[in-house]
Amino acid sequence: MKGTTIDAVNILNVPVHLITMDQTIAWVEGAMAHHHTYQIATVNPEFVMTAQQDPDFLTILQSADLCLPDGIGLVWASRLLKKPLPERVPGSDLVYRLAQACADHGWRLFLLGAAPGVAEEAAAVLKNLYPALMIAGTFAGSPDPREDQALVERINQSEADMLFVAYGAPRQDKWINRNRNRLTTIHLAIGVGGSLDFITGRSVRAPRWIQNLGLEWLHRLFKEPWRWRRMLALPQFAWKIIKLVQNS
Ligand code: UDP
Repeated sequence: MKGTTIDAVNILNVPVHLITMDQTIAWVEGAMAHHHTYQIATVNPEFVMTAQQDPDFLTILQSADLCLPDGIGLVWASRLLKKPLPERVPGSDLVYRLAQACADHGWRLFLLGAAPGVAEEAAAVLKNLYPALMIAGTFAGSPDPREDQALVERINQSEADMLFVAYGAPRQDKWINRNRNRLTTIHLAIGVGGSLDFITGRSVRAPRWIQNLGLEWLHRLFKEPWRWRRMLALPQFAWKIIKLVQNS
């Protein structure tokens, strides 16, 4: 498998690949040439902490072909663990690069998930940015396993090559893992979290200077305060890493 050729740092048993944004696009171009459904996860500290309590999710991350360093906390942790990640690869930036790659190569893109209407609107925004982009389909659907069969049939009938799944973690990554072997035309499936909401402007990303300071998570907490309970995972993650480094 292509993913296994890329070195990874082990962060609390989750492998996070040492890869840049540009290398990710090159990896995707390689993956798209194979008759296989590759899975990408966009990992952040919340994923890692969820995986500590959810063995199925941990196994799924360990078996994903590529685990991208989506959160700055992972970059900090990798430095403390003396195996530094080259940079952060945010899923919300990657979706644009992937849509552009689809347009450049003639790959058909399917957008699954988010609230009803969001995927359609995101598709229109992407199509406007990349006129050659072919949208194979859009559908909100549901991550409920009872819906799997109908969703798989819909995606297979669309003959899409690439699939974005926007059900949030861990649901989206579990969805891909459960269904990847039944997706007959998809070469690459990626969990994209709230990226479709960002594309449509429903959620607003932090300005670049805040991102560059490594404080995008703080901006998100400020904009979406209802996330505070979930984001307690961040200090817990930092504490676990510090203890691990001290004891090593
Ligand atoms: N979502 C969905 N169905 C669900 C749960 C979530 O479509 O049952 C969508 C939600 O509308 C949002 C996306 O999943 O567009 C990501 O949600 P969230 O922002 O919680 O995920 P994160 O970005 O934190 O991974």
